[in-house]
Amino acid sequence: MAEVKIGLEVHVQLVSLKTKLFCSCSSDYRDKAPNTNICPVCTGLPGSLPTLNKRAVEEALKVALALNAVPYPVSYFFRKTYFYPDLPKNFQITQYDKAGGYPLAHDGYLKLSNGKIVRIERIHLEEDPGRIVYEGSRATARYSLIDYNRSGIALVEIVTAPDMSAPEEAREFVEKLTSLLADIGIDVRNYEGGLRVDVNVSYEGGERVEVKNVTGASSVEKAISYEIFRQKTLAEKGIKIVRETRAWDEKRRITISSRGKEFEAEYRYMPEPDLPPIRVTEALIEKVKSEIGGSQEERYKELISDGINEEVAKKISSEKQLYDLYLKVKSAEPTLIKVGSNVLANEVSFILKRDGIQQLPVDISGLLEILKHYYELPDHSVIAEYVRKWIKGEKVEIIQAQTNPEAIKEEIYKMLSENYEKIKNLDYNKKFEFLMGLLIRRFGKENKKVLVKELTEVLSEYK
Ligand code: ADP
Ligand code: MG
Ligand code: ZN
Repeated sequence: MAEVKIGLEVHVQLVSLKTKLFCSCSSDYRDKAPNTNICPVCTGLPGSLPTLNKRAVEEALKVALALNAVPYPVSYFFRKTYFYPDLPKNFQITQYDKAGGYPLAHDGYLKLSNGKIVRIERIHLEEDPGRIVYEGSRATARYSLIDYNRSGIALVEIVTAPDMSAPEEAREFVEKLTSLLADIGIDVRNYEGGLRVDVNVSYEGGERVEVKNVTGASSVEKAISYEIFRQKTLAEKGIKIVRETRAWDEKRRITISSRGKEFEAEYRYMPEPDLPPIRVTEALIEKVKSEIGGSQEERYKELISDGINEEVAKKISSEKQLYDLYLKVKSAEPTLIKVGSNVLANEVSFILKRDGIQQLPVDISGLLEILKHYYELPDHSVIAEYVRKWIKGEKVEIIQAQTNPEAIKEEIYKMLSENYEKIKNLDYNKKFEFLMGLLIRRFGKENKKVLVKELTEVLSEYK
């Protein structure tokens, strides 16, 4: 197999923030009229000064810690100079790891399902540029428009080592990263362009080619596949691959040359004089750690020490949303954690996936109601239906049918008509046995007496 190296530079918008990185403009720039979500700072007017959004540092630290990276105690902002219409100051405020600079954090990793460890070299904060809107397609546009609403949005950039060797690995990396981010409250899944990847690909020790601005895990996979194919074809013809930057054309599913790669010197990196260094104290790290609530392993250990069985603990600890809910149940009603953990790992998890729900209700009283009556509820489908009601914000009213002979009768009639074909030829005893089985599943063993009574009554009329 030919050697392929893949490294990613992933840009993540800190969508959990309310404001931009250096000004108080809203971070919610989508769907706004062009150039209305701007101010002198984010459009770089002369005399304006940036002020660092402290919360952005905390959110970026969350990302760093979730990826097992190590924050630098002090890091700096730099100016990266280039000329492009989306960059009104002619420089982007970012962080730099050379010339005395440090990024926010370094040396993390993310593990893939095949056991491979993808090293993360560095994680830094930077501002997003504005957006260029082309008339029709980029290739044929007679003019382009510029919208600065996005200019100054806070981004974290996550730079991996070139540790991946197949397009599928890069895809999985992006997918895992996306769900890990969602776990810590930075859910970019519903934000167009919330996660954008520059992919670097080299073939057989050749120069690396960078494909800019690929959005979404499946496009990352496609862009890399195409690039490997292109480089391989060139290599086979004996044509040398040149270091360059290419663009991903989502419609045609090919990469196209966009410009020769800038050399580092052309960016003329220099320290940003208008912003102080970022200082990350131990106290700040502790604060951020408590917000992200430990690692999956730590969560698993806690569940096990609460007496939750391994399979259920594994499930709950792997999904932050479920784990948070578990903690809520535990603090509201500690006696319900056993039942609660079962419902979380089964019905809640099932409904979340089936209905594509991202946000659980804050109020858990409906869920507690279900848990309290857990043993009275006939089966999983009934529990799931109550859980669905709770998640959808509908009122949860547990119908305690077993204390109500009328409800039992009604259920028996329903069972008779639903199972008519199955039981029509059975003798009385077989029929009785069959229906009794269903009734016990529906109402529980503890109600056997009343069930026998009602069933006998109904069957005597039914004959
Ligand atoms: P630069 O500073 O020139 O941008 P970096 O060291 O920052 O280079 O690397 C940028 C990205 O390129 C990283 O994601 C890295 O993994 C990737 N990369 C580096 N070398 C290679 C290579 N030989 N093949 C593929 N990707 C590479
Ligand atoms: Mg780089
Ligand atoms: Zn602004």
